[in-house]
Amino acid sequence: MATTKQIADQAQQHPMAIRALENRATQHATQQLAEHLAAAHRDANTHWARVTHGQRPTAQALEKLLATIKRLLAAAFRGQGPRAQKAAAAAAHEGALLGAAQAVAITAAMTRQPTPGARPQPAGSRGITGPESQAAVDSIPAVVEEEHRRALALLTTATATALGGAVVATVFNRARRAVTRVARAVSVGVTSAVAAGVAAVARALGPRARLLWVAEPGACPACAAYAGQSIPIGGVFPGGLSLNARQTVFPTAIPGPPRHPHCRCSLVPWRREWHTGGTPLPELLRARARTGGA
Ligand SMILES: [Zn+2]
Repeated sequence: MATTKQIADQAQQHPMAIRALENRATQHATQQLAEHLAAAHRDANTHWARVTHGQRPTAQALEKLLATIKRLLAAAFRGQGPRAQKAAAAAAHEGALLGAAQAVAITAAMTRQPTPGARPQPAGSRGITGPESQAAVDSIPAVVEEEHRRALALLTTATATALGGAVVATVFNRARRAVTRVARAVSVGVTSAVAAGVAAVARALGPRARLLWVAEPGACPACAAYAGQSIPIGGVFPGGLSLNARQTVFPTAIPGPPRHPHCRCSLVPWRREWHTGGTPLPELLRARARTGGA
């Protein structure tokens, strides 16, 4: 029989696999936008220098410069929202399958039996990744549009007159927030999908199956407070838990990780009647999170 320690060790490997998938997906979703923005930033600086020669541009020259920078910005953003969304959707799908595979492996270790009928819905179907993941993925085009708009809003005659050539950096720094926000959406999209994949497997284990929270090693005080807590399938973890309420508290109740963007906590299926050697798994996970790791 596997001991709870072995099972906890196995469960605590999950965040690494989730992190690897998330990193790959983030790069896939944001790399082109980041490169295009960097190139447009360089071009905008070149134009600025060529037109102004370090002097104050005439009103007419300034208007032309602003129009050029607008065009460069638009070209850098063109098609990037849908492109990033597509990459995030593919990663979320992969995440759901990863979660399901992890859940099957843990269940097999706990019961020493293959998991009955624990296949998530067929590949490609919406719903396999869960509503939280779907919402994060679907938000991406609007997020990209919004950051494009905010960058443009900084590109006015007034700001350019006040800042001179520094307006270029200001505008592109703002535009780069699109990259950060897409990365955050990818992170939530992947981690929520992993949790949905676990839940799909747990559902196949019958009504008494629960979902048990596994904190990633080195988790923040909020996530550490959830370690070892479990809910019935379809339930929610309460909001507001934290080992350090003055530092980190998230008030909303949630069906599973992520507790915050870039949280790689995970869930495992669990039934109270599963007996493994050693300390009960919830207690062990709780104790490990409180001592800061593995
Ligand atoms: Zn976490």
